[in-house]
Amino acid sequence: MNRNQVLPQVELSADLGALRKVDFCAHQAYQGHGFLSMNDLPRVASEASKVGEGDGFRWKLETHFEASPGSEPRQIMNLELQGQIHLVCQRCLKDCSVGLMEKRRFTLVASEDEADAFPMEDDRQEPLVATQQFDVLETMEDEILLSLPLIPKHPEGTCQSHSSSFGSEGDETQVSEKPENPFNILKNMKKTS
Ligand SMILES: [Zn+2]
Repeated sequence: MNRNQVLPQVELSADLGALRKVDFCAHQAYQGHGFLSMNDLPRVASEASKVGEGDGFRWKLETHFEASPGSEPRQIMNLELQGQIHLVCQRCLKDCSVGLMEKRRFTLVASEDEADAFPMEDDRQEPLVATQQFDVLETMEDEILLSLPLIPKHPEGTCQSHSSSFGSEGDETQVSEKPENPFNILKNMKKTS
């Protein structure tokens, strides 16, 4: 009943053109890894405050089939993304290097209907509709965009609030009118550590 069919292992090319058309309808397992620079990710790059050296994302991907009771084996895709991007710190309004590390798991389904009916018991396992020319690059870019912090900030205590003429916008940190004496900040940090 459980066909332990050995699937051909296909090395996924890191070439951008190849990543835009991966055949997920073929009965084969993929694995691959590579690096995407900000140039390769225009939608992510448009969120960046600047492009620093080394900014971009390493990706690692593998697919396999898992037995599913009462139905065809399910095709699973595991995707790992790790990298960094420069965003604007919402406290001091200066550049802020943000590191990201995401692990996502997807189930490939045959149709939009099947995706809509997919049980949402686990938000770490989303459905994707398998096609013969699946755009993996787009999925990677989507996932990077989704994992960007909504309010990027330098680590607490390492920068000061930008004194805004618009006044406080409900930020939990107190916006003081005059800049705080950096030596006081240092003293307070030593006390609490
Ligand atoms: Zn800052």
